[in-house]
Amino acid sequence: MPISLSNLGKLFDYLDVKLEEGCDHTPKITTDFLASINLSSEKILPWLQDQGGYCDCEILANVEEGWESEITKNT
Ligand SMILES: [Zn+2]
Repeated sequence: MPISLSNLGKLFDYLDVKLEEGCDHTPKITTDFLASINLSSEKILPWLQDQGGYCDCEILANVEEGWESEITKNT
């Protein structure tokens, strides 16, 4: 995977907070977060899309579920 479990956990936490303002159906919040921690979204966005996460709300809805227990166990 192109991102560490701990950063993935932080991404989900960040999306949780930011999505209260609503999703504009782009992965903008995710892209901003990745840039803020100096990660390139070039590899990570396609990886998220593979798991059904094409925009910020889908990333939280479709991707988080599969990683939740792994993140809780390992971070
Ligand atoms: Zn959305």
